[in-house]
Amino acid sequence: MAGKHVFYFGNGFAEGGRDDKQTLGGKGANLAEMTRIGVPVPPGFTISTDACRFYLREERYPPDLEQQVAAALERVEADTGKRFGGLENPLLLSVRSGAAISMPGMMDTILNLGLNDQTVEALARASNDERFAWDSYRRFVQMYSDVVLGVPASEFEERLEARKQERGVVEDTELEAVDLRALAHEFKSLVRERLGSPFPDDPQIQLWGAIEAVFRSWNVERAVAYRRVHGIPDYLGTAVNVQAMVYGNLGDDSGTGVAFTRNPSTGERKFFGEFLVNAQGEDVVAGIRTPLSIEEMEHRLPEAYRQLLEVQERLEQHYREMQDLEFTVERGTLYLLQTRTGKRTAAAAVRIAVEMVDEGLIDEREAVLRVDPKQLDQLLHPRLDPDAEVTVLATGLPASPGAASGIIAFHPDRAVELAANGEPVILVRSETSPDDFHGMVAARAVVTARGGMTSHAAVVARGMGKTCVVGASELHVRNGECRASGYTLREGEWITVDGTTGRVLLGKVPTVEPEPDEYFNRLMQWADSFRRLSVRTNADTPQDAQQAREFGAEGIGLCRTEHMFFNGERIQAVREMLLAETSDGRRKALAKILPMQREDFAGIFRAMDGLPVTIRLIDPPLHEFLPHNDAEVEQFADTAGISIDVVRRLIDRYREQNPMLGFRGVRLCVAYPEIIEMQVRAIFEAATQVAAEGVTVKPEVMVPLVADVAELARLRKAIEAIATQVLEEAGTEVPYLVGTMIELPRACLLAGDIATEADFFSFGTNDLTQTTFGISRDDAATFLPQYLDAGIFKDDPFQVLDRDGVGQLVQMGTWEGRRRRRDLKVGICGEHGGDPSSVEFCHETGLDYVSCSPFRVPIARLAAAHAALRTGGFVADRAQERVERAESGAAAHTLAARQRPEAGVSGD
Ligand code: ADP
Ligand code: MG
Ligand code: MG
Repeated sequence: MAGKHVFYFGNGFAEGGRDDKQTLGGKGANLAEMTRIGVPVPPGFTISTDACRFYLREERYPPDLEQQVAAALERVEADTGKRFGGLENPLLLSVRSGAAISMPGMMDTILNLGLNDQTVEALARASNDERFAWDSYRRFVQMYSDVVLGVPASEFEERLEARKQERGVVEDTELEAVDLRALAHEFKSLVRERLGSPFPDDPQIQLWGAIEAVFRSWNVERAVAYRRVHGIPDYLGTAVNVQAMVYGNLGDDSGTGVAFTRNPSTGERKFFGEFLVNAQGEDVVAGIRTPLSIEEMEHRLPEAYRQLLEVQERLEQHYREMQDLEFTVERGTLYLLQTRTGKRTAAAAVRIAVEMVDEGLIDEREAVLRVDPKQLDQLLHPRLDPDAEVTVLATGLPASPGAASGIIAFHPDRAVELAANGEPVILVRSETSPDDFHGMVAARAVVTARGGMTSHAAVVARGMGKTCVVGASELHVRNGECRASGYTLREGEWITVDGTTGRVLLGKVPTVEPEPDEYFNRLMQWADSFRRLSVRTNADTPQDAQQAREFGAEGIGLCRTEHMFFNGERIQAVREMLLAETSDGRRKALAKILPMQREDFAGIFRAMDGLPVTIRLIDPPLHEFLPHNDAEVEQFADTAGISIDVVRRLIDRYREQNPMLGFRGVRLCVAYPEIIEMQVRAIFEAATQVAAEGVTVKPEVMVPLVADVAELARLRKAIEAIATQVLEEAGTEVPYLVGTMIELPRACLLAGDIATEADFFSFGTNDLTQTTFGISRDDAATFLPQYLDAGIFKDDPFQVLDRDGVGQLVQMGTWEGRRRRRDLKVGICGEHGGDPSSVEFCHETGLDYVSCSPFRVPIARLAAAHAALRTGGFVADRAQERVERAESGAAAHTLAARQRPEAGVSGD
């Protein structure tokens, strides 16, 4: 296909189809596909993404682009029987962008291109509708000036508003032909005034101006911002779709709308959508008039509705996926202008995947692969406490579920500022546009007073999994305040948004934990049947352990014990121990903590009956246990009956320059063996105690921060001595393991040696990342954001495991360890254990398990299934799947790796 940049579609024929997204963009590929399968689509052509990349690189068009466009345009003229720039039956065009990966609302569409003072008269004659012709013209001048010439749309909106006021009307549709004619002229002189040159009248100049603008729009700020958030590579470029116009603004038997083949919020299998009579283009999405529900269309436009039902059914069967459709009805005839995979909430994603299996559309593997693990987070988020008393400020449409409380910001910039100060922010707007995107990213939830379920705010919020209520029309947002139900709210005041019911509530309303539904459980069962990695949790309390178990955790991978030293009176005993000069003194102080820790462990063992529990011995630097301020110093001196000076000396003794690399972990255990004596005793006494109750206990004792096998050998001996003693005393047998946390590069290098003393390894990838990069996580905030912005680091290495560096150490540690000891159990317990890309890495490296916080357990289970299904060789349609994965932001880097820009991706 070398040299071919323009691809035609029309009249049942198309040069391309659904698999050509890389070249035609998603929109173009699907316009071609729809045309092929006989869905009514106005004819047109797509200029390829290669042409865009060429243009952005060379700052000129590919050599024969102009001829190819001219030829395709002639074909559109032949297919429609209209002429571009013609004075009898003028052909008008829409020019729109469309990248391989859909980016809703990010790029600008130009409608009614080809109008000027002559063709507008011709259009009026041909349509026999003067009002319509002038309405189209003023829309065109406004859109074109905004997108191509850089005169902001708001300036035109102001004039439109002024005209409506002057006429005493509310809706645009109430303006008459004379008004619209006057507006069109007013708009044009405004452009001349602003630019010092006239609005272009020549349709060819208009067309090329628009094509160029679409190419350039790839690099506008908000497009770049969207790509950042969703992990879409910058070099893909966009295609340009040029298409014959159809008119939804030709009166009451015309209209335009947006629909989903299933409910994108709940997933229910019910055709869902909105439309507006006598309207064009973006009117529905922009939320300018509040649209009617799709059911209403049956009464208003019955014939077109019947066709639409048929088409939506056909498209869903064809794509085997929920579709998001854009359509226009021109004098009773239906046209489809777009179809794409519909964005959906996590709940909807799960339900749709499961029901499509039941309907025989897809199989279980595909269902599992269709749900993005990251998205599950949404499902596991708290919802409003149903018993809480609430004051409803307004009720709008439940655009994106979940519950969020926060303080109001009325402006996106303020939302960003407040969020930067750590405030939870709710962005409240009349409606949103792509210019508000950064504010939406910063906010916890978004509320708009206008707009429907398919408005910009709704679509973007759903895409980000952000709680959102739209069309809450009782809210009057004006001049930095918002009135509703007799309240006046200003910036900084608390509200709560319930995206599940559409309510906006006064103040901060309490939330409760989520309960997974039947669809979720079925999907997770399938996921479990495909995955090889086992999934554990990081839990320090019986409650967390219980919660994680309900989410499917198969054990505890990390039970931290530090809080077992801090709580209440325990801290006092720890301080006494630090004061003590002798081993006996230390033992005496620690003896007070023993029964308490025993109870803690017993609770956790009971909660994890039958499952392994990895307990890490004391880890943090001792100074953390000492008083931190004068009041605490005094209080401690008082209760211990010592002088303030003694306390201060004690504090000085444990002060460290760099505690992260200081007196902590195994080093403490070596210096103060009494501490681990107590801890190990508590663990095994608890084990024998609950074993006597009939609970199955599987303790795994883990030594932190080991750098050398000799450290572990020494600890292992001590642990085994106490364990044996306790178990013998009780006459119970409890199988247990002793292992180590691998969190220093040296431990990875010498993993083979260390494995001789370890039953298991658990990579502590938080510390391993710190020690490998030489970056303290707590201090990284000062420079890490710049590193990410500048693209020096692709991801935050504390969130996404750094495969190149830390990953290499993990692999080396695993392989060296297993070489020396075949049955070595290996897992990771950093927060990376709940990050899908890191889970994939763990699967590929051959680890036995990942461990993460309770709420991320289902994410890890699903991610582990994805990893197994992908590397297991199953993927029905790789090209499609790759784009979808990137669309969900999951694995843009894979795409990047396989599709270098130089590689020339056309016709891939
Ligand atoms: P987005 O990427 O924001 O969805 P689109 O390219 O789909 O933008 O265009 C937005 C809207 O413009 C469409 O939903 C449709 O209503 C209108 N539109 C685009 N092309 C045409 C056309 N050929 N005829 C009539 N309306 C059109
Ligand atoms: Mg669209
Ligand atoms: Mg650590």
